[in-house]
Amino acid sequence: MRSDPYDVIVIGGGPAGSTVAALVAEYGHRVLLLERARFPRFQIGESLMPGTYWSFKRLGVLEKLKKSAYVKKYSVQFFGASGRGSAPFYFHRHDPHESSVTWQVLRSEFDRMLLENAREKGASVRQGTAVQEVLFNEDRAVGVRAKDSDGSLNDLTARVIVDATGRSALISRKLNIKTEEPTLKKASLFTHFRSGSREAGIDEGATLILHTRTKDAWFWYIPLADDVVSVGVVGDIGYLLQQREGTPQEIFEEELDRCPPMQDRLERARQLFPMKVTSDFSYRASSVSGDGWVLVGDAYGFLDPVYSSGVFLALKSGEMAADAIHEAFRNDDFSARRLGNWGEEFIPGMEAVRKLVYAFYTKEFSFSRFLDAHPECLDGIVDILSGKIYINDVTSIFGPMGQMCNLPEDVAHYSGTPV
Ligand SMILES: Cc1cc2nc3c(=O)[nH]c(=O)nc-3n(C[C@H](O)[C@H](O)[C@H](O)COP(=O)(O)OP(=O)(O)OC[C@H]3O[C@@H](n4cnc5c(N)ncnc54)[C@H](O)[C@@H]3O)c2cc1C
Repeated sequence: MRSDPYDVIVIGGGPAGSTVAALVAEYGHRVLLLERARFPRFQIGESLMPGTYWSFKRLGVLEKLKKSAYVKKYSVQFFGASGRGSAPFYFHRHDPHESSVTWQVLRSEFDRMLLENAREKGASVRQGTAVQEVLFNEDRAVGVRAKDSDGSLNDLTARVIVDATGRSALISRKLNIKTEEPTLKKASLFTHFRSGSREAGIDEGATLILHTRTKDAWFWYIPLADDVVSVGVVGDIGYLLQQREGTPQEIFEEELDRCPPMQDRLERARQLFPMKVTSDFSYRASSVSGDGWVLVGDAYGFLDPVYSSGVFLALKSGEMAADAIHEAFRNDDFSARRLGNWGEEFIPGMEAVRKLVYAFYTKEFSFSRFLDAHPECLDGIVDILSGKIYINDVTSIFGPMGQMCNLPEDVAHYSGTPV
């Protein structure tokens, strides 16, 4: 009989880690969450998908969000290389329920709120504690080696180790099961501005996605509270960083020159901090679980920022993994198959988003042209953009879309033995 002080150790306190920790603790298991940073800490990824509503409801944070000052997001709108905008995709026009409106959040505050919620639900939370490595007994994860803020090293054991370390992807790097998305080798430069121009009424909080004139890069424009707006540019790593001279700031400004509708919006705006850079963020582990371990959120995989799916998928995988962990305790079975049985439902949803990401990056695809030719696909598109992929079947749109542009093959649904 093992006598670990904790049943589950969660590494990382972002949205995925906080979700698993809160829900597993709510089931009555002893959870320790280790987070290397001290919150609040900066994080990119401010635009939510409406589908997050159901996770917020289950986590018990919906009322806090409703009372918050976060700007409400009713829609997303895409602008082509010509500068012409698609019609905005208003989520509530397809599903007139309060879950069709979401928020543009400041991640430092939002992530702190979710971490605090995990603590309130009963998880022990240690900030300023970095996990150096996951400890294995043969193929089974049995614990972690953690470095406290005073520099001391501690080995801690538990039946289940959850990797929620985001793009650090501790376990999949260690086990060498991290696979790249070959055609999505992207980079991004981003910052916040104050006093960018924004629309009035329900369009105030719209996420805007704007291609540059050459279609080699695109900007996001995400209006936040306090007259702040998050702005970033995304393009191939080669195009944006490797084949360019100049500082990140200069490269950002060159791309801005190629995007007149974005220039107009930022004409009177003031930049709030130096340009940040990130790259090579599209990858996936070949399995969601192994014996004694589970991957959630970005630690499993990240697609691309274009549809703001990251936080939604982090919350969803956190929920599904929490249920699987509870079942593992009920059955005293901590095998890869038991801990990862949710992958069979989760991965096809992620695949739908991935296909639409690939379409976006082809020269042939545009939302306006596709929907002019196939108006019957509108609901499927809005379901993906709003994160209703685990509620409605959206797969019928990919037949017609595949005639307009190349789409990738499905990734197989591994839930169990990593390959
Ligand atoms: C350019 C860009 C733009 C994006 N825009 C959006 C957007 O608009 N909307 C959206 O939904 N998503 C967006 N995303 C994605 C989004 O940021 C992520 O998907 C989301 O943060 C994933 O949550 P997570 O909990 O898995 O990981 P994270 O939020 O990264 O949290 C991981 C946590 O683990 C901690 N950690 C890491 N290593 C260790 C360790 N060894 N020990 C202890 N703790 C550790 C980190 O400090 C961190 O707090 C964007 C991503 C990029 C790259």
